[in-house]
Amino acid sequence: MALLPILSYPDPRLRTIAQPVKEVNDDIKTLIKDMFETMYDAKGIGLAASQVDRHIQLIVMDLSDDKSGARVFINPKVTPLVEEKQPYEEGCLSVPEVYDEVERPNKVRIEALDGKGKPFVEEVEGLLAVCIQHEMDHLNGVIFVDYLSRLKQSRARDKVRKVLKQRDKHLEPVKA
Ligand code: ZN
Repeated sequence: MALLPILSYPDPRLRTIAQPVKEVNDDIKTLIKDMFETMYDAKGIGLAASQVDRHIQLIVMDLSDDKSGARVFINPKVTPLVEEKQPYEEGCLSVPEVYDEVERPNKVRIEALDGKGKPFVEEVEGLLAVCIQHEMDHLNGVIFVDYLSRLKQSRARDKVRKVLKQRDKHLEPVKA
């Protein structure tokens, strides 16, 4: 298992369109494990392969408080089941410490393969519906701040730069 570096907004690699997974082989299974480890370490609830610079259609998610709700979505297709959109406050591991409201349909159908390559269809609502749409956006090179005003996008870029700088400081060796 390994922690994978997470790309940060506005890294252009986050704009790459993810390709379908051809086969759920050992390489993919290892990547899934590493993505879960990375997501849990960063205290996130969802992570798309795009965010760790692997541009394939793979999403991991866990909406539970105790790591008991691990879900894998491979080659997902998401269809809204309602027209009405509702606001939900979103954040993103690629846009650290930035949170804002995005409006999305809060009921969707998901068609995907699970972590073993088995197909499934599920109708979901609420947080899972919001989260899968946020992660699907990553696979399509879209980041949640794209929905915000230009001013908020520019503030988000400043904030991320600041947060990353702060993190770098903490990583510096202590010079005694
Ligand atoms: Zn995200």
